[in-house]
Amino acid sequence: MRPYPARTQYAGKITAGHIGTVVALNGWVATRRDLGGLIFIDLRDHTGIVQLVFSPQYLPELMERASELRSEFVIAVSGHVRRRENPNHHLPTGEIEIYVDELVILNRSDVPPFEIGHRETINEELRLKYRYLDLRDPELQRIMRLRNQVYQVTHHYFSEQGFVEIETPMLVRSTPEGARDYIVPSRVHPGSVYALPQSPQIYKQLLMVAGFDRYMQIAKCMRDEDLRADRQPEFTQLDLEMSFVEQEDVLQMVEGYLARLWKEVKGVELPLPLRRMTYREAMSRFGSDKPDTRFGLELQELNDLVSDTEFAVFRSALESNGSITGINFVGGASYSRKQIDELTEHAKRYGAKGLVWLKVTSDDMEGSAAKFLSQTHKAALKERMGAAAGDMLLIVADAWNTAHTVCGALRLEVARREKMIPKHIDDLLYIVDFPMFESIDPETGMPVPAHHPFTSYKREDEHMLESTPLAVRANAYDLVINGYELASGSIRIHDRDTQAKVFKLIGLDEEEARKKFGFLLDAFRYGAPPHGGMAPGIDRLIMILAGTDNIRDVVAFPKTMRASSLMDEAPSPVADDQLKVLGLQIRQSS
Ligand code: ASP
Repeated sequence: MRPYPARTQYAGKITAGHIGTVVALNGWVATRRDLGGLIFIDLRDHTGIVQLVFSPQYLPELMERASELRSEFVIAVSGHVRRRENPNHHLPTGEIEIYVDELVILNRSDVPPFEIGHRETINEELRLKYRYLDLRDPELQRIMRLRNQVYQVTHHYFSEQGFVEIETPMLVRSTPEGARDYIVPSRVHPGSVYALPQSPQIYKQLLMVAGFDRYMQIAKCMRDEDLRADRQPEFTQLDLEMSFVEQEDVLQMVEGYLARLWKEVKGVELPLPLRRMTYREAMSRFGSDKPDTRFGLELQELNDLVSDTEFAVFRSALESNGSITGINFVGGASYSRKQIDELTEHAKRYGAKGLVWLKVTSDDMEGSAAKFLSQTHKAALKERMGAAAGDMLLIVADAWNTAHTVCGALRLEVARREKMIPKHIDDLLYIVDFPMFESIDPETGMPVPAHHPFTSYKREDEHMLESTPLAVRANAYDLVINGYELASGSIRIHDRDTQAKVFKLIGLDEEEARKKFGFLLDAFRYGAPPHGGMAPGIDRLIMILAGTDNIRDVVAFPKTMRASSLMDEAPSPVADDQLKVLGLQIRQSS
């Protein structure tokens, strides 16, 4: 028999309905109050807390042991549930307390480095060092359990849809996502390395060649990049691939999944189908390929209104085939010079040479460029942008992409500053028809691919591949949620000739292509079906469902922005004999 009271209830689940019964609980001491005689303990488990009472009137012989209890001791108790004299209406268990009949101290605890339950007041580095204590916090318990729920829904949904879950290897040849690889030296093959997968991309395509038809995997991916706030060096993707499909089939499969998730995890019906917006429309209206469409401030193209202007900034954009693009910051005329300077700095960070701002007054405009614009131009701008007195027009004249990207960044910045983003709504849409290439490499003159090199292009754009590659659209799509790119995917090239053509176009010569992806090209010789897929980022998805902005909150054992784990101190120096076995030597950097 177990030497301590076996649990009959969870702490957070005891209610007035249990009054008069005997319960047994196992858990941790959350807090202890000693009121000179009476001792109150909050016992915590993953469901919540409940108040225990030790009273000399009730069982004097327990008092000595009870007085030993300190925070985070592990205990087992049994006792009677009674109604509290002073109920705590903030606690689900606040109507009752438990008069303890039996107490077993199962383990003691050192004084913890911080109190559990107040994580927002504790420095994050300290919490990461003692992550197992941080994880005791109800908020992280909630998020990890939500993460588990997402995994269960994911497995159910895709299994019902005929997907097979297959694990792909962690020690691989480099994969094609374009970031830096983490590498693992081989002991058996001195001088050779494995890469850790940046994604299972090639393997999932091989599984299509192998005839699995529909594949899914909740896959760990590793990319050795300089981290931004919302990235981790290892992250989780829901990796998907399907055979004999077109773009619409993949989009419908994934939106069905999202609707199921939102319903089961959030209790919210997502209206389907999700919007599909072309890349061009997203850039034109929102200045971003991951637009947050929960608020207005849309971009307006102004070239046609000022085609005869003498204003040098506009003239030079017009003459170089660029774009004059702006947003109407409604109510922005109240901005001070300092605030406008800040917006200008923001614009410059995104590549603008400057920012034209015009405050609309009741009968004119004020601002940097006002004196260079005729009344006719001012009136036309005002009308196009729907501006009225008290508004401020922010205008960028530059190359098309720069003008739009900068205005997109300004749009977000203004919305953030003015709290225009309705955070309670989730905004999901697909961006489709991405360009196949992002630029022309000035050195080689070759187009630079915008996606991994197995992405197919639209057949109807094939004639432009050589002549105007930047106009060619890919069968590539993204899922965007609340202004974040949550998933990318594409319909792949599945025949060798097209693949060879694309490799050649992007300057990947045959030898190099063979070296990198030879086994995939070989596989394509043996009957590769048409196929395509997508890979939603699970960490970001859970951030959205859980309502947190910190990616480290959704990963049990996360790394810092400098890619280290403060708890186990990885990465760590390697011992000489380990290096020797691997045939490696560390060169001291000077
Ligand atoms: N492998 C791609 C990525 O990691 C997604 C895909 O094309 O399925 O972004």
